[in-house]
Amino acid sequence: MTKTIGHFIGGKRVEGKSGRFGDIFNPNTGELQAKVALASQAEVRAAVANAKAAQPEWAAKNPQVRARVMMKFLELANAHREELALLISMEHGKTIPDALGDLQRGLEVAEFCTGIPHLLKGDFTDGAGPGIDMYSMRQPIGIAAGITPFNFPAMIPLWKAAPAIACGNAFILKPSERDPSCPMRLAELFLEAGLPPGILNVVNGDKEAVDAVLDDPDVGAVGFVGSTPIAEYVYSRGTSHGKRVQCFGGAKNHMIVMPDADMDKAVDALIGAGYGSAGERCMAISVAVPVGEATADALVAKLIPRVEKLKVGLSTDREADYGPLVTKAHLDKVKSYIDLGVKEGAKLKVDGRGFKMQGYENGFFLGGSLFDNVTKDMRIYKEEIFGPVLSVVRAKTYEEGLTLANDHEYGNGVAIFTRDGDAARDFASRVQVGMIGINVPIPVPLAYHTFGGWKRSAFGDLNQHGPDAVRFYTRTKTVTSRWPSGIKEGAQFSIPTMR
Ligand code: NAD
Repeated sequence: MTKTIGHFIGGKRVEGKSGRFGDIFNPNTGELQAKVALASQAEVRAAVANAKAAQPEWAAKNPQVRARVMMKFLELANAHREELALLISMEHGKTIPDALGDLQRGLEVAEFCTGIPHLLKGDFTDGAGPGIDMYSMRQPIGIAAGITPFNFPAMIPLWKAAPAIACGNAFILKPSERDPSCPMRLAELFLEAGLPPGILNVVNGDKEAVDAVLDDPDVGAVGFVGSTPIAEYVYSRGTSHGKRVQCFGGAKNHMIVMPDADMDKAVDALIGAGYGSAGERCMAISVAVPVGEATADALVAKLIPRVEKLKVGLSTDREADYGPLVTKAHLDKVKSYIDLGVKEGAKLKVDGRGFKMQGYENGFFLGGSLFDNVTKDMRIYKEEIFGPVLSVVRAKTYEEGLTLANDHEYGNGVAIFTRDGDAARDFASRVQVGMIGINVPIPVPLAYHTFGGWKRSAFGDLNQHGPDAVRFYTRTKTVTSRWPSGIKEGAQFSIPTMR
């Protein structure tokens, strides 16, 4: 009997009622390992109704009480790190050390949220006019929702749920239907930490559930992370109903390698950032841009043996560089991009398509691939591949490298490797991308800063986590007050009587 995964609503696991299910595969073996219930519109509506009933009492708790729930959750999640990492690894396919990192980067946002009493302190102007004071406070939206991608099943649900609930909202999480087990377990741990039932609900599903969230009149804010076409769709449908929506989309992150860069460090960086997690990261480097022919020749010569030597292994092999891809469909898509690159005339220096994992021939494994002489008109340059494939685009000058990054439709992350502070400073100032690394390949900002791309990598104005998350999950209320003068004199010392 195949295991089934339902939903987490009202503080408990419940079975799906729609009769529709999605398949969850073991990416190491290729076998079906579970079925996940896909919620109907009515099930989403019921979860929202549940959240609506629970939210006012939660919002009325003082913020220190909410912070203490977050502290207890952190204690529990840390105690269950290995269990959570295994859940991630067995559905996503990332290695256990990488899954532990996925969890850690999510928990760091929960740590930030333990400061919610301080973060929710308002502003006050004493004497804004004669006898007038003015103050503003931030109050929760009510019910917020998060729709998250497959590639960070702990980190991104926590980036969304932790700030939302710390601010006093109830939250509906619609995680990826490809790896829902870790988000379900996180919700259970929140309950164990003292979060009241109904404040964090996990509704599994596909487009039907997403549409139900977007159309629900009681959901006030929606945060989305996933591919750009869906991000754009969620943004327009959600905002058309007057909701507050922030959507983070796809990426094509460039790394400019200047002639003065430390070439060994640049190669290390490209190997980790290009192939780690099988390239299934929105901050993966997928385009290397060496500046000048000599830099390009040296870089490619050093990259080839390193890509050939990548250790692809089972997701449970702690020594592996990366594990299998998430699904057969995704594996086929990535392979088809490699076929396309060859047809488009790029030089395939390392071909990972033939890789087979001995004993696991049906697993979704793919060796590392490296393309040289990729040009900006090719589809393998323009589109997000989201696999262990690195493209080298040769630039003649620094300006040409900068222009490549600026002209690309995506603007999530970018990096420059150089020893020249002036070049780095100019780059950081002029590049049209949201997150910049200077000799750092994956510049994911820490929890107390904010995360977000530019151009078609993000829709909406505020970023994820850090102070922006508190703004996104709350509304400002501003009070202007004047008091009539009261009785300050004429105290009565004799006992009041009714005469
Ligand atoms: P995806 O767009 O397929 O799915 C994301 C979410 O949208 C899932 O919950 C899914 O169920 C839902 N969804 C899918 N199709 C839908 C539809 N037609 N209508 C409504 N909802 C739908 O993305 P994915 O494959 O899970 O994740 C990979 C993508 O996410 C990549 O493009 C990656 O760059 C991006 N990503 C971006 C960031 C960022 O912060 N910018 C972070 C991580 C991942």
